[in-house]
Formats: sequence, C-alpha cells, structure tokens
Amino acid sequence: MIRVTAVEPSSIADELGLVAGTELLQVDGRPVEDFLDWEFLTAEEAFLLHVRQPDGEEIEFDIERPLGEPLGVSLEPARIRRCANRCDFCFVDGLPDGLREVLYIRDDDYRLSFRYGNFATLTNLKPRDVERIIEYRLSPLYVSVHATDPTVRRYLLRNPTAPEIIPQLRHFADHGIQFHTQVVMSPGVNDGAVLEQTMRELYQFGPAILGCSVVPVGLTEYSKHHLVREPTADECRAAIGLVEARAAIALRERGVHWAFGADELYLRAGVELPPAAIYDGFDQVENGVGSVRWLQQRIAEGTAALQGWAGRRIGVVTGTAMSPLMPMVLEPLAQATGARFELITVVNSLFGPSVTTAGLLPGTGLQSALAGRRDLDLALLPGESVNDDGLFMDSMSLALLSASVPMELRLSKDFVDALHEPVAA
Ligand code: SF4
Repeated sequence: MIRVTAVEPSSIADELGLVAGTELLQVDGRPVEDFLDWEFLTAEEAFLLHVRQPDGEEIEFDIERPLGEPLGVSLEPARIRRCANRCDFCFVDGLPDGLREVLYIRDDDYRLSFRYGNFATLTNLKPRDVERIIEYRLSPLYVSVHATDPTVRRYLLRNPTAPEIIPQLRHFADHGIQFHTQVVMSPGVNDGAVLEQTMRELYQFGPAILGCSVVPVGLTEYSKHHLVREPTADECRAAIGLVEARAAIALRERGVHWAFGADELYLRAGVELPPAAIYDGFDQVENGVGSVRWLQQRIAEGTAALQGWAGRRIGVVTGTAMSPLMPMVLEPLAQATGARFELITVVNSLFGPSVTTAGLLPGTGLQSALAGRRDLDLALLPGESVNDDGLFMDSMSLALLSASVPMELRLSKDFVDALHEPVAA
C-alpha cells in the first residue's frame, strides 16, 4: 500500500474523489508497494484501481484515460532500503552527532539507483527485488562494485555474505539490464593489481557495463581513521595510470573511453584534468566524474543568453576541492557577462577541513563567509548543498540564511542556470 499526499486539482484523481490520505492498494489485482509499482502498473491506458479512502471505505475504479495523461497524485516518499554493509569508509560513520536523523540512514536502494543515479551495492536484494528489476526493466542501474574479487569486495563492504557481483550482474545483463559502475578506491585494499583486475573483468563482461569510474575514498574528521585512510598523491597517480590504460583499450576496441577517474582523483594526484571528450557524455557527472569539464561546457554553451550583468559583483561560494579549478571556469563567464566574479572558498566547519566538497558545506559556514559582504550584489551557492526541503547539512534553512546575509542568494548547479534573470537594481 502507498498513501496519496496530494491531489492535483481537476486531475483524473481529483475527479475520482481521491484525496490526501487515500491508500492505493492494488492495480489490476496486484499490490502497490511503492512508487515503482504505481508507475509501472498504471502505465497502461486502462486498469482497475483499488483504493481505501481515509474514512475506511474501499472502492474499485475502472480507469480509462488517454495514454500518458497523469493521474495527478503525489505519493508519500518511499521507505528507504537499508544497507546490509558496514564499509569502513561509510560517510554515515563520518557524520558528527546531532544532525538530522535521516542523515544517519545508510541507504542502499536499487529503486533510487534507477530513479536518481544513486549508487547501490545490490547486496540487500530479495528475490522479489530481482524480479522487479527485470520485469520493470530498471536500467541502467548505478552499482558500487569496488572490487570484482569476492573476498576483497566482502572485506571492503564488511559483509561476509555479500553475493558475488559478477554472477549477479550477469543474471541482470542476460535480461537486458545495463550498469554504470564505480570503484571507491581504498588504498592498500582495492587499488593496484585489484583495481586492474576489477576494471578488466568489468570491461570483459561486455556492453551491459557502460563504464566504470574510480573515486578515491573520502573521509571526515569523524571517520574510522584507524581502519581506513585516504590515498596519497602517488597512489592516485597510479590509479590514473590504470584508468587511462583501460580507457585506451576501450577506445581502440569499442570507440568509447569507458574508464574514468573522478575529478577528485586528479586533484589529489596533482594531475591536470583530462579534456571533456573523454567523459563519454558525462554519465557519472553527479558522482564527481567530469564535473569541472561539464561545468565549462555548460558555460560555453549558455553564456550568450545572459544579459544585464555588466558591472555586477557576484560571489561564488565553493568548497576547497573545486576552489583551485574555479578561476578557469569563472573567467569565460566574466568575459561573457561583464560581471565581476569573486571566488569565496569555505572550509567545512561541520565535518572538518578534509571534507572539501561544496555540496556538504553547512549553512552556518556560508553565513559566516557572507554575513559582512555588503559589496556583493549576489552570491551563488552550490545547488546540491540544500535538500528538497531547503535545508543545509546542519539543518539551517536557506530562508534563514537568506534573511541573515546582505545580498541576494541563488542556488546554482552550473552558474548559467542562476543568471538568466539579473538581480534587481
Ligand atoms: S554500502 Fe557502505 S558506504 Fe554505502 S551506505 Fe552501506 S555501509 Fe555506507
């Protein structure tokens, strides 16, 4: 059963009398467990919908509607699938106490992998989940492989019962499912020969595996430093060598690069980022793979439409990771708009300075950086630093931050998206 949280006025659901609180029980006699069942089972033009209204009355509707016309219901959020692993590098272990409860949930959910590109390990799948992935063709999925060697993978996941990943992927691939994969590289465990083997076996798996990224393990002040450490610059350079060797083979044999290093891997190695062309369409940009080149590309494509910014002073807030690379991103933007961009680098006061990602900056840190800046007309904040409810990691709201700083604030993913409307004079 899944509950309706809102109904669009004048929609089909509204005309049927569905309301917030209506329970969606079955479609064509099949139980509705979550948003996936709802979307897939109601994709036909005609179906039988069995609901329970808030007063307890159960009703069956015989629905026929033009294909593609939405029913007009919003659903309660899915209950997140908990993770079956205990990785030493888990971000949840690296959280300080006292944050929102939801941040302490270790999620590992194939449904969110399909919908939002979250990485899942597939270690918590039940037979019914396997059937659903195949029946609903949930493809591509984003999978954290880490190592194809079962012993190394179980060690990394701290899960002695984790199923072997290659046969698992094979079963899905035989039913038409494709995968984007990642390796979170923990030095001394799955780098070096293990990394070479992992990429080789995933590549040899065939076209169902669309690519593999290598992301260096990232820790906060609170992580289990006695069990895991971040890679050195030399270790990152060695990993880049393996990635680029595999990419060269893939390019020669398949015409794609297939293997990618996260931007963070290059930054830590002190190696220049590769050009945009190597990222095969930026499929893993949300995973920090090609983010800088993607940003440059977006700016190059989008600046012509930006008007009314000449002479404006714009602060660009970022974390320490992207800070050294930002000038080459902002310079063309300044030239195209005539605005003055100032980089404002904020050290993460919540997780400690080793957490360099802009998206994890706390609201209080941004407030300290911006509070006295009356010289700015606008400040651009990392779009991913607030959740859907407008809250930063430390639960400060964007509304509260906006009220406490002297300039207008805009969230932005690629700068161009936030500059279509000039600020008021
Ligand atoms: S798979 Fe590992 S890193 Fe991911 S949530 Fe589970 S324990 Fe944490």
